[in-house]
Amino acid sequence: YADRFAGQLVLVTGAGSGIGRATAVAFAESGARVVAVDRDAEGAARTADVARLIGAPEAWAETVDVSDEQAMEKLAEKVAAEYGVVDVLVNNAGIGLSGSFFDTTAEDWRKVLDVNLWGVIHGCRFFGRQMAERGQGGHIVNTASAAAYQPSRALPAYSTSKAAVLMLSECLRAELAGRDIGVSAICPGFVNTNITSTARFTGVDSEEEKRLQKRTARLYGLRGYPPEKVAEAILRAVVRNQAVVPVTPEARGTLLMSR
Ligand code: NAD
Repeated sequence: YADRFAGQLVLVTGAGSGIGRATAVAFAESGARVVAVDRDAEGAARTADVARLIGAPEAWAETVDVSDEQAMEKLAEKVAAEYGVVDVLVNNAGIGLSGSFFDTTAEDWRKVLDVNLWGVIHGCRFFGRQMAERGQGGHIVNTASAAAYQPSRALPAYSTSKAAVLMLSECLRAELAGRDIGVSAICPGFVNTNITSTARFTGVDSEEEKRLQKRTARLYGLRGYPPEKVAEAILRAVVRNQAVVPVTPEARGTLLMSR
């Protein structure tokens, strides 16, 4: 998509690593001005540096925790005042959490819902409203997961947070359809990033743990599915205005079975 996003302002959360970094860089390659948001200041700054090197006319790093409502509201005000209204918003920041239902503490439930669900809600409320009020269209991408529609004993809290993101995206898509603002939910399967390399399927019986590890190794070998391919799917989703986008072969297969 060379120059496809020239002149557009793209904001990506969780841009300090993995899928978010690859996405910010891919938009930069396509000519966009990029805001890389992460709670990890160093990661966000590196992504902005790479984005500039690769061709973004401008790129900025912002250090924000997406689960912090006030910080997100302030960020939206700052971005609008200093860089402009965002044309493409990618709510991608997320954390993993494994453990069986009864092994998951209330604190862990809150933590994962605060980041994975509330982070997306804050992004859509503050940046989506600006987009709608400007009246010149735009696009919102939310990174859900194949876990959103594929039940697992290993990831009940994570999967619940992602199922909520998927439904939120579909509801908002219906609401914004008449205003030329598309909403896409990206649903990757297992992708090779920090989230998965540090994941441990704790608290589930070892049978399921072994099954998950075997399946992953069988599908992708040791290298795993690259985040750059998820980034490609995200740009395609914006260009084609796709609603629900399963990425990776097993994510496509399980979506067909679940709907
Ligand atoms: P990652 O850990 O490499 O990247 C996540 C980034 O989000 C990190 O830079 C982290 O600092 C940032 N982040 C986490 N919490 C934050 C917060 N509260 N505020 C701001 N930034 C925060 O992992 P990834 O795989 O690139 O994950 C990106 C998204 O993709 C997540 O939403 C994840 O759930 C989703 N996803 C990943 C996979 C996979 O297999 N890797 C599969 C499906 C969905």
